Amino acid sequence: MFKVLIAAEIKNLLEPSQLTDLDVTWLGNDEPTPKGDWVAIVPLLTRWVGGTELKNLPNLRIVANVAVGYNNVDLVAAEMRKVLVTNTPGVLTEATADLTWALILATTRRLIEGVDLIRSGQWTGWHPEQLLGLELRGRILGVFGAGRIGQAVGRRALPFGLRILYTARTPKPDFERETGATRVDPTRLFAESDIVSLHVPASPETKGMINGETLARMKRGAMLINTSRGDLIREEALAMALELGHLGGAGLDVYTDEPAIHPRLLAAPRTVLLPHIGSATDETRRNMAAIAVANVQHVLHGKPPLTPVYA
Ligand code: NAP
Repeated sequence: MFKVLIAAEIKNLLEPSQLTDLDVTWLGNDEPTPKGDWVAIVPLLTRWVGGTELKNLPNLRIVANVAVGYNNVDLVAAEMRKVLVTNTPGVLTEATADLTWALILATTRRLIEGVDLIRSGQWTGWHPEQLLGLELRGRILGVFGAGRIGQAVGRRALPFGLRILYTARTPKPDFERETGATRVDPTRLFAESDIVSLHVPASPETKGMINGETLARMKRGAMLINTSRGDLIREEALAMALELGHLGGAGLDVYTDEPAIHPRLLAAPRTVLLPHIGSATDETRRNMAAIAVANVQHVLHGKPPLTPVYA
């Protein structure tokens, strides 16, 4: 039996057959990472696994993150200790792209303001100028980071009649062929898009890249959507852009300091704020848990990991 630490919150998403040969310690999200001789850890994205945690787990062979993003793991420290790191790419792409579109539609068509109006009891009936939103047809969607999720978001844009600009470190010819998307540099994407949707991972290069300067370069009235990671955005600068009416709206699923949200952003107009539910469907969460544990099983049984973060 292999001694492993697994996030207690995924227990109900796993079948007993997936845990064969594992002696599991279920670790609650509110408990600190313990010291001991565990050989694998399966953490949620909310658990930091850095130098200290790795030092306290000297027999560790794998960190199997239950997320595609892995900014909660110190990769340099893990690599130095020859600990493998895996993530859950692919299985959450469609669910997260769907949620991104829920945010795009809710933000451009002012859904939350509409719901609030009904609930307030103040709705006086149909009015030709009530809650006018942004017409999608003919507008430009800027996909910032056309990887798996960014491309899935772009593919969904075609029936809505949007044109697509995108950024990526490498060109995506199949995506361009399929959707007519054009690869541009970030400056052009920010300047020309009516909706900018963020899909790059959180990393030292991308942290805080949506700041006062980048927001000022966006079109007046443009919308910003973020289902990637909160670290990408300077939340106070975004709140100011919304307060001033420079941005037409923001649809966010992720925040810098979750579950805290910058008070100014919380109070800002024209926002749709969701509690980090991008991948939250039953199937996807089961698939994420299954891949994370399958990575552990592979590595502990001497096979290569299924989805390593680095080769
Ligand atoms: P992915 O396939 O790796 O795509 C990332 C994209 O970002 C790629 O196009 C990549 O370019 C580009 N990129 C990477 N580093 C960059 C940098 N430093 N500067 C500019 N562009 C960069 O990842 P994914 O599966 O689509 O996931 C994207 C992110 O979504 C994850 O990292 C995660 O944080 C987030 N996410 C959030 C939720 C949620 O619940 N809200 C759910 C799932 C994922 P190349 O293609 O040229 O490499």
